Amino acid sequence: MTAEGIAAALVTPSSSTLFLIAAIILGLIAGLQFILSKRLHTAALRFWASSNLVFCLGCTLFAMRDVLPLSAPSVAGSGLLILGIGLIAGGIAAFDGRRPRFGLLFAGPVVAVAMLAVSVAGGDQPAERILISSLGVTFYTLLAVTLLLRLKVHRLDGVQVLCAGVMFLFAAVYLARGGGVYFGVIDPTDPFGGGWARVLALTMAVTWSFCSLFLPLDRAASVDGLTGLFNHKATLSVGQDRLKEALSRNHPLSVLLLDLDHFKRVNDRFGHHVGDQALKAFATVMLRSVRTCDVVGRLGGEEFCIILPLCTEAKAFEIAERLRRRCETELEFVARHRISLTVTIGVVTRSPTWDTISSLMKAADAALYEGKALGRNRVIYAGATRSTGEMVPEL
Ligand code: GH3
Ligand code: MG
Ligand code: MG
Repeated sequence: MTAEGIAAALVTPSSSTLFLIAAIILGLIAGLQFILSKRLHTAALRFWASSNLVFCLGCTLFAMRDVLPLSAPSVAGSGLLILGIGLIAGGIAAFDGRRPRFGLLFAGPVVAVAMLAVSVAGGDQPAERILISSLGVTFYTLLAVTLLLRLKVHRLDGVQVLCAGVMFLFAAVYLARGGGVYFGVIDPTDPFGGGWARVLALTMAVTWSFCSLFLPLDRAASVDGLTGLFNHKATLSVGQDRLKEALSRNHPLSVLLLDLDHFKRVNDRFGHHVGDQALKAFATVMLRSVRTCDVVGRLGGEEFCIILPLCTEAKAFEIAERLRRRCETELEFVARHRISLTVTIGVVTRSPTWDTISSLMKAADAALYEGKALGRNRVIYAGATRSTGEMVPEL
């Protein structure tokens, strides 16, 4: 493109100019994602940065499609689009703590590129070409949408739902266009259909880019770095939401406040790193002892909180007691040291007296400290109608 051509394109933006602008934006976001991946130690961001670089390359190819042979945008461009979406899905799996399946990630783009190359080499057959790329795009987009909506490590919120909606619409339009062209309902040379599909692809890439920045930043702001549980602020905020729900539907809700016994001695005797391991092990025991709808948070130091929606006094007490016993047995040894860790738990269930998060916390805290005063390693119900436990063995 000559200098005059570029200037003219900027004055009256053509679709090539728009693709060039998209390539620059996606390239810049990829840079931001790479920087954030280092700061936040989030492997998923590296996948998503790579995905944006791949999209950036694809957009550049589309921007130059008038001067390139057909095979560049239609074969390489489609392969890059499918690979970019596959990398989004791989990153979501990594964000959720799973190992991305690299075979699955690369198999689709490789197969699609091979099939497209064969199709283009045998004389251009747009219907076949469009169907192949549409099927690849739809498969990986629906995979990404499913993983996004089923994230275990992140509570579902508006950003995820909006992004999943845009991605789903994108997949549906690509599939409808591929099928429509293949079965002769849509004219493959219709620039309107193709143009809309590409605009939707750009919208999807930009919407996803925002979501990919939001997810790790939100996690960094709401998750405790050592244990991976909710931090103090997020525990109270999510707890507030759960309480509001319980109040409006008149459902029960219980709160457990947990404090590890004589934890300072663990640090003093075995070192801070063993203390850290014990905190992580305790977090695992808690997560294994509750349902996925329960909120588990670290309030600070060796103090934790569990919010149990739909949980009556008797059930909450049972869960707390099970947790106390598990702590006794499963945290007897940590990092091959006999630390014999125990926990004291204060339990409270919402009632007309305790109907705000702060009043529930206060009541559970009072019960917890009663438990400490009574000798630790026990569960105490606020109001003291129930209590259990044994004297903590001296370390
Ligand atoms: P009590 O049974 O009365 O609760 O006694 P305690 O020793 O558990 O309570 P105390 O408040 O005296 O001490 C809490 C200790 O928790 C002190 C601090 O060194 C330790 N701690 C707090 N945060 C961390 C952490 O992130 N890692 C480690 N290893 N220790 C921590
Ligand atoms: Mg303690
Ligand atoms: Mg404490």
